[in-house]
Amino acid sequence: MKYPKVVLTADRTLMSPYRGISLASFFGCAPALDLNRKQTSLLYRILGNQVTPRLLFDFICNPIGHTNGIANYAPYGLRKVEAALIRDGYSREDVVVAHPDYIEQFIGPETQAVGTYEMDPLGMGPVTMTFTYGRRQMSYDEYYCRDLHHRINKAKARNGSKAKVIAGASGTWQYNYDPAKIEEYGLYGIVEGDLGGIGPEIDGASAGGKFFDALIDGEMDTANPFKKSKFKIDIKEFSRNGREYHGRFIHYWDEPSVEDIPDIVKPSMHGMSEVMRGCGRGCKFCDVTLRPLRYYPVEKVQKEIEINMKYGGLKNAWIHSDDIFVYGLNPRTTKNMQPNREALEELFKGIMATGIEHTNPTHGTLAGAIADERLIPNVSKIIRASPDNHIGIQCGFETGSTRLIGKYADRKLAPFKPVEWHWVVKTGVKTLNEHYWVPAFTLIMGLDNDETPEDSWETIRLIHELEVEQPESKFTVTPLTFVPIGLLEKSEFFDIGSTMDPAKLGVMYKTWQHNFRYGIQKFMHKVGRNNPIKNLFFAALARTLGGVPLTSMERFARQKGPEHEKVIEKIKANYWY
Ligand code: SF4
Repeated sequence: MKYPKVVLTADRTLMSPYRGISLASFFGCAPALDLNRKQTSLLYRILGNQVTPRLLFDFICNPIGHTNGIANYAPYGLRKVEAALIRDGYSREDVVVAHPDYIEQFIGPETQAVGTYEMDPLGMGPVTMTFTYGRRQMSYDEYYCRDLHHRINKAKARNGSKAKVIAGASGTWQYNYDPAKIEEYGLYGIVEGDLGGIGPEIDGASAGGKFFDALIDGEMDTANPFKKSKFKIDIKEFSRNGREYHGRFIHYWDEPSVEDIPDIVKPSMHGMSEVMRGCGRGCKFCDVTLRPLRYYPVEKVQKEIEINMKYGGLKNAWIHSDDIFVYGLNPRTTKNMQPNREALEELFKGIMATGIEHTNPTHGTLAGAIADERLIPNVSKIIRASPDNHIGIQCGFETGSTRLIGKYADRKLAPFKPVEWHWVVKTGVKTLNEHYWVPAFTLIMGLDNDETPEDSWETIRLIHELEVEQPESKFTVTPLTFVPIGLLEKSEFFDIGSTMDPAKLGVMYKTWQHNFRYGIQKFMHKVGRNNPIKNLFFAALARTLGGVPLTSMERFARQKGPEHEKVIEKIKANYWY
């Protein structure tokens, strides 16, 4: 048997349909192992060092299907790299997107490169850092990424392969903070963008095949500053715990035009298809905004959806967008970021014309959603939003503090002003819910380590006011710890384990209290109301997922002392409706 020249893959947490529950894809951030658990404790006797039982995790994170070990669906970014290689002359036999459980059967003597797609390889992403108390526990993201690399290395040793293992995608910045993993995983190289944590766009016409050619031909073996190459090699040296480590970081920066970005040729995970790259809102804590803004024309979006329908049998399209409401506008010339309603209507009409049954954009801003009062009603009609067809969208709540939002993300609010932020949040939730959209909010704890207790209380109050004033509202709020990327890349991580003051614990407690009762129990019950099995499943899931963080935060408060406990009591007494 001849082995493929290039094997592309990703770990199990990125290769799962999560049983079709879109919010469950966050579950990869859940803690897997507590390596410091006392062996004499009762918990250790029951679970060993498992935190979220593996049985539960593996049930929710079900593996994606495969055909003879080739993944039937793959992360969108990996599909783009595959498409770029095919476009640039690699034959179909040369390139395989392997299912992580069958990786061994594709790595052999002829294999020259193994590319791994990594979004949160070491569990340092904002959601994961929150769930693992700042990486004091090991997340499933990290657990399965480690497992994948160990298996790749074993397969190489067993099959006599000298393949270069190269890690790419938006999470590779994490290796800078734990370089021992570069050695442990035997990484030949790490692909890194030039701006903050953002991954380079290697699917453009000037990279793709050329990137892999250069990798395979040994052009990246040495860092030669005098050699002209579009791929800059930086051999970084690190000292950690009395040991020296080094890593080959491959920098590349390009802003391919939309015509130079290939269409996927095989189905993407969750029916994902992008409609734009970049976002012109300029939030300081975000790296996406460092990319120039480009939009896909409707026909290009349709082509990718058709690939997903034809080869993947998919009936839904997740529309990847950074802020869908800036689609079709020019942030430099459009007054106050006023949405381009006509462009959005055309886009969604084109998406529905493919024959799919459901679509939702991945991200959007509240300000954009309400800046034009006909926008959400019109788009909702086009995409047939209804009580049986809710439209999920992730929106940045970021903070309830008008001071912080003004300082770090004022254009996120355009055309509104920071002082209007509370009104924007409340009106945004009302408008979206009225048209069957459900926002999944994220907020940032310890934003640039600049959040005061008063800022935190403003956040708690705003969530509570929403609950009181709009008791039937549907939304979830996930707190994320601050990670220094984007324009704040020189700042420090927010260390949730040791710098969480009482008010910040309060923010976390309030969000989970909300998610448990409102977001999970109420909404999930409604989602499953026509299907008793689904209903039972969601109710059990809600109890398991929702109750655990609240109890553990109460325990954490008791350990921390009276000030932390007082905050929990105050929220229970005054901020619960
Ligand atoms: S609106 Fe969202 S994607 Fe755009 S810059 Fe702000 S955080 Fe980034």
